[in-house]
Amino acid sequence: MDKKRVYTFGNGLAEGKAGMRNLLGGKGANLAEMNLIGVPVPPGFTITTDVCTEYYEMGQEKVVSLLKEEVEKAIANIENLMRSKFGDVENPLLVSVRSGARASMPGMMDTILNLGLNDEVVEGLTRKTGNARFAWDSYRRFVQMYGDVVLGMKPVNKEDQDPFEAIIEEVKHAKGVKLDNELEVEDLKELVKKFKAAVKAQTGKDFPTCAYEQLWGAICAVFNSWMNERAILYRKMEGIPDEWGTAVSVQAMVFGNMGDTSATGVCFSRDAATGEDLFNGEYLINAQGEDVVAGIRTPQQITKIGSQRWAQLAGVSEEERASKYPSMEEAMPEIYKQLDELQTKLENHYKDMQDMEFTVQEGKLWFLQTRNGKRTGAAMVKIAMDLFRQGMIDEKTALMRVEPNKLDELLHPVFDKSALKQAKVLTRGLPASPGAATGQIVFFADDAAEWHAAGKRVVMVRIETSPEDLAGMAVAEGILTARGGMTSHAAVVARGMGKCCVSGAGALNIDYKARTVEVDGVLLKEGDFISLNGSTGEVYQGKVETKAAELSGDFADLMKLADKYTRLQVRTNADTPHDAEVARNFGAVGIGLCRTEHMFFEGEKIKAMREMILAENAEGRRKALAKILPYQQADFKGIFKAMAGCPVTVRLLDPPLHEFVPHDLKGQQEMADTMGVSLQYIQQRVESLCEHNPMLGHRGCRLGNTYPEITQMQTRAILGAALELKKEGIETHPEIMVPLTGILYEFQQQESVIRAEADKLFEEVGDRIDFKVGTMIEIPRAALTADRIASSAEFFSFGTNDLTQMTFGYSRDDIASFLPVYLEKKILKVDPFQVLDQNGVGQLVRMATEKGRAIRPDLKCGICGEHGGEPSSVKFCHKVGLNYVSCSPFRVPIARLAAAQAAIEE
Ligand code: PEP
Ligand code: MG
Repeated sequence: MDKKRVYTFGNGLAEGKAGMRNLLGGKGANLAEMNLIGVPVPPGFTITTDVCTEYYEMGQEKVVSLLKEEVEKAIANIENLMRSKFGDVENPLLVSVRSGARASMPGMMDTILNLGLNDEVVEGLTRKTGNARFAWDSYRRFVQMYGDVVLGMKPVNKEDQDPFEAIIEEVKHAKGVKLDNELEVEDLKELVKKFKAAVKAQTGKDFPTCAYEQLWGAICAVFNSWMNERAILYRKMEGIPDEWGTAVSVQAMVFGNMGDTSATGVCFSRDAATGEDLFNGEYLINAQGEDVVAGIRTPQQITKIGSQRWAQLAGVSEEERASKYPSMEEAMPEIYKQLDELQTKLENHYKDMQDMEFTVQEGKLWFLQTRNGKRTGAAMVKIAMDLFRQGMIDEKTALMRVEPNKLDELLHPVFDKSALKQAKVLTRGLPASPGAATGQIVFFADDAAEWHAAGKRVVMVRIETSPEDLAGMAVAEGILTARGGMTSHAAVVARGMGKCCVSGAGALNIDYKARTVEVDGVLLKEGDFISLNGSTGEVYQGKVETKAAELSGDFADLMKLADKYTRLQVRTNADTPHDAEVARNFGAVGIGLCRTEHMFFEGEKIKAMREMILAENAEGRRKALAKILPYQQADFKGIFKAMAGCPVTVRLLDPPLHEFVPHDLKGQQEMADTMGVSLQYIQQRVESLCEHNPMLGHRGCRLGNTYPEITQMQTRAILGAALELKKEGIETHPEIMVPLTGILYEFQQQESVIRAEADKLFEEVGDRIDFKVGTMIEIPRAALTADRIASSAEFFSFGTNDLTQMTFGYSRDDIASFLPVYLEKKILKVDPFQVLDQNGVGQLVRMATEKGRAIRPDLKCGICGEHGGEPSSVKFCHKVGLNYVSCSPFRVPIARLAAAQAAIEE
């Protein structure tokens, strides 16, 4: 037989299971699994992700012919189980068609419900159910969804309403009603007619009437949606490969819109925003799934406690809540009990927080989906630690459950408490995704992207968001919506992105055409500042000050747990006492790179520095350096003090000299006056310092070797600071690092300057201090000759920024001109300056470490390029046996967790 492309499930049986997510997608695999563990699921089948690949290789026609027999058989299986017939007029089977990739991509691809209806079937469905309103409501939804997804009915301009919604508004207006469910059967019939006419007018296509034609159209549309713009963007953000493809699940429809004993909803076994161990979710009586997420009707809470919390935030009284918005627990207690039992069963089975969709059809509960829920970084940490404490998972699993990069969210600034007290609360919405956001109001995704590119911070304000808004949401500081609940598109996507979001702020009156939002008489325009508190749902007018986050609670516990497993140490790159302190609070055990050039850039220092560079001879340079010395020494003292007791690697001056000299006339005149020389002299010197390839020019130890006075001054400042602290009883461990070494002799000459100056200083002071002299390994030649270099150098620090530059031959400063094309064409999978190229640059790191340690077994090796804070690169550093990684302060917890995970994976 040809390979199997379709897997059926239903009635407690399934051809697939949870472990087959690569082939069946997350949704398909879990639908099969739910059948196997006794959770009620409507019967159906899943077309594999391999078929998606075939679809893109062979095209639509070929794939449909490959699938035809299996799909028809699988439909027959559903017909048997449901005792109805696909396309039949008197006893019709209707199906849903949904996407489902290996990794969940909520809302990014397409879904079609109620498929199988046409003008005759709808009459048959009316007769069968005796419920004309339901039949016609289902039909108008189907035409609307199919028209949008398969036939491509979209708004023409971004300010325009959805073409179908516009027709609904028009019909409601003519009838003088406000809500969709106030429309009567005749109105629904009218809508269907108008929808079809609009489809014909805009797309030139007739609406298909044959059930199988509809089905193939829908299946192909789901495959097509794998390559829609937002799905591609989402995959890029989440690092999901394009090759994976999506599966397609086709299932018998069950209906939440059959009357007051029917309902539909979305629920979570724990709180996806905070991680609190509290079952929660939203539902609507007499509705279909998309109503809950689309924010058209205000969904109600599933649990009573959730409902009461909601009412408090929404300013709704208890009486009003209980009568108008009762929870499912109150309104459908029997069903609620079943739902609660099944959600517990699913969480226990998967041992993780579940995000579930369900429908109640005339008093019977069905599950349509379960998946490990998307969550914020804070929730990720809390849920992992709670599951561990509750005995559901072990320590190692808890550590592996947290994505290191997600910790970044816990380090984002929070609102300053005193600033909050002063701030004016404009309105409130739901606390959909925690965090603090301040920015300028924009209403459209493309404006958000444009303003962001121009360096502005923006908050996206929308009536509701849709998957088309993804690119805007990705760059916004926060998202505010007028409609939609905790499971709305905005809320779910924002939580996935770790972005602050306040949803369903009903007091907002947004006018897209005028680009304004009015709240209780306050009118805000595009560009005005607004602030959001995603943890409380509060919305403030103007800017609110923020302060840095802290490492505490579950986060601190997780880090402690990480330390139990890590072998790799984590240091920080820091150039100021403040950065050193921040990093130390995040658990850094030393400084791996202190870039001294950053200390020369301000005030009087830059003047003295310029004087040194522009001087005619060594004598002039020494005079200028003597002015810099006290500044440097004070700077080092501050840093050593902040890192007392820990090693601090100070790198000697590295950047090209022309970066320091003035290129403007005013600055040049100032230097001429200061130094008592002519403007012409200064200009000639500045010109002579210009280089064609400054990155490959007069920098690093080439400076120290041509101007040893600089090395002497810096050595004196470093060790002088350490000696002063020694007198104060503060312990220091200075490590002096030579940058950009390529040749052993380059290093040796610098080393002898350093040691000679140290001896001189120690003699002058009458005291000494232990220190090490080592080198950056950032030039391929240094890596290739690492055994020779290790004969003199006491430690290696891999400067993978320069090492990447010189291994690939890509300029660090100019890669932007071709990188996007390289990524697009998949010549490069990722930016090698962000993610360490393990096959190339990584091999140099591995080889140099091995060669170096062959000569000097206790050679301390670390990495201090940007890769030191990137999880996959950190894991590589663990594998090759480095002693430490060094990264910017806010990446320290991320590196610590990645280091623990590397040890566990080993
Ligand atoms: C490096 O090259 O990786 C490095 C850390 O040094 P810099 O980025 O300062 O050149
Ligand atoms: Mg470098």
